[in-house]
Amino acid sequence: MTRYVFILGGVVSSLGKGIASAAIGSLLQARGYKVRMRKMDPYLNIDPGTMSPYQHGEVFVTEDGAETDLDLGHYERFVGVSCRKTDSISGGRIYYNVLTKERKGEYLGATVQMIPHVTDELKLFIKSDLKEEDFVLYEVGGTVGDIEGTLLLEAIRQFSNEVGRENCCFVYLTLLPYIETAGELKTKPTQQAVKKLLESGIQADILLCRSKMDIPAEERRKLGLFCNVSKEDVVAALDVDNIYKIPLSYHEQGLDTQVLKHFGLYETAPEPDLTKWHEILNVMGNFEHHVNVAVVGKYCGLPDAYKSLREALVHAGISNKTKVNMDWIDSESLEGMTNQNVANQLKPYHAVLVPGGFGIRGIEGKIKAITYARENNVPFFGICLGMQMAVIEACRNLLGISNAHSTEFTSDCTPVITRMKVWEKNGQKMIRPEEGDMGGTMRLGAYPAVLKQNSLAEKIYQSSIIYERHRHRYEMDISYEQKLAEKGFIISGKSPDGLLPEVIEIPAHPFFIAGQFHPEFKSKPFACSPLFKAFIQAAMKQAELL
Ligand code: GLN
Repeated sequence: MTRYVFILGGVVSSLGKGIASAAIGSLLQARGYKVRMRKMDPYLNIDPGTMSPYQHGEVFVTEDGAETDLDLGHYERFVGVSCRKTDSISGGRIYYNVLTKERKGEYLGATVQMIPHVTDELKLFIKSDLKEEDFVLYEVGGTVGDIEGTLLLEAIRQFSNEVGRENCCFVYLTLLPYIETAGELKTKPTQQAVKKLLESGIQADILLCRSKMDIPAEERRKLGLFCNVSKEDVVAALDVDNIYKIPLSYHEQGLDTQVLKHFGLYETAPEPDLTKWHEILNVMGNFEHHVNVAVVGKYCGLPDAYKSLREALVHAGISNKTKVNMDWIDSESLEGMTNQNVANQLKPYHAVLVPGGFGIRGIEGKIKAITYARENNVPFFGICLGMQMAVIEACRNLLGISNAHSTEFTSDCTPVITRMKVWEKNGQKMIRPEEGDMGGTMRLGAYPAVLKQNSLAEKIYQSSIIYERHRHRYEMDISYEQKLAEKGFIISGKSPDGLLPEVIEIPAHPFFIAGQFHPEFKSKPFACSPLFKAFIQAAMKQAELL
């Protein structure tokens, strides 16, 4: 029997609902339950694919090619279950579905209304594509009280009434601010937020209260009294310095116990096996060495813009038992510099990573960083745009094609990176029209790549075929393969039909590799992406730690 847990947020935004949801999922999973994680966002974009990373943080790509909210990345990292297209929905997608149905006449002449048509469409999502999960967790984006979230709450209320209130648990993440001068944690914003949620007909079952400190008995009593919950259902979500501490911290505070009690499962539930969480925290708490990595990117001002990448580097640190210090260098800042100044700037780093990205800003800075790494035998790892830049760098500086460039940025060039028009997915030809919508027109999701025998890539993956996730429109022109190979720059991974370059490397360099995909999306704290692990190993060699 499936139970439904809804995670809502009140008082303020940015309380970390995504990680809270992922942590609850991981605790239920640690008890042996089959868990599914989902996200409902109220905004009007059909999906986050067209949003700037500065607006909304990273766009996370699922195995089956959905462009989703970065919270799905937290779910996959904490719970280890691959999310699917059907695990994320936006207000925009819901309205789009409703209006499409209306145009097709599917409402048989009815007046199409918010209730029941939009709420029904939302309930369809809530119930869709479930496969005998024990628990399905739905994180509800936005803050209770936002106008655009109203219909989500209405649909959830209706749903809980239909499946039975006892089969739904509402976890409400709120904030207890600490007022320095009063020396107290304040409960009133939470009390009012609980009332705000009640206006939608939803009673919070568990209050998960972000707090700087443990919640004193008096505040628990007060919250229980005003908010209709027992004092055990007031759970502290204490501030921690490392997100991977959260599942253990919630467990100590009794959160999973309260969720299970809510469903009447506590007495029969297995004890959680939290060994793997203790193990990674033990490693992270006892690093003896460190390496310094320069990430030369574009969206350096907002930590969330490269969320999965940061986490994958953390995972690589865990798997190599070495702290990874990351510095985020705005590639634009390297553009006006001489090669010598770039070298001086990058000298403190044991390795250079050029991540994915879109748009021309900072491109020449990335290319300069790659020249530095290639010429000075500094470990280099390029991701997606990072690979494209490595190809341009090689065409310019190894083949002497001074105006080599990508047609993403200019038509006045010798194009070595060009827009893909046709590619294969599961044996089918995918064709993208020259003109058309921006959303969902990329090569998205996991595709196979065949790795060259005895290449660095094959050694790293210990396999001749890999499946990594993609999100791109442009691709290296494979006709440069031979000329570049003569200069020691090889294509070591290709799509199975041999047409699309997937991995490049320089065998004579200590570590120079780049992929047309995003391996960071698959990296987990308990199972680091092989490429990230090898990259940090190379940085450790550079730092003479190995
Ligand atoms: N802008 C490049 C492309 O569309 C790279 C995309 C990326 O790095 N994800 O191909």
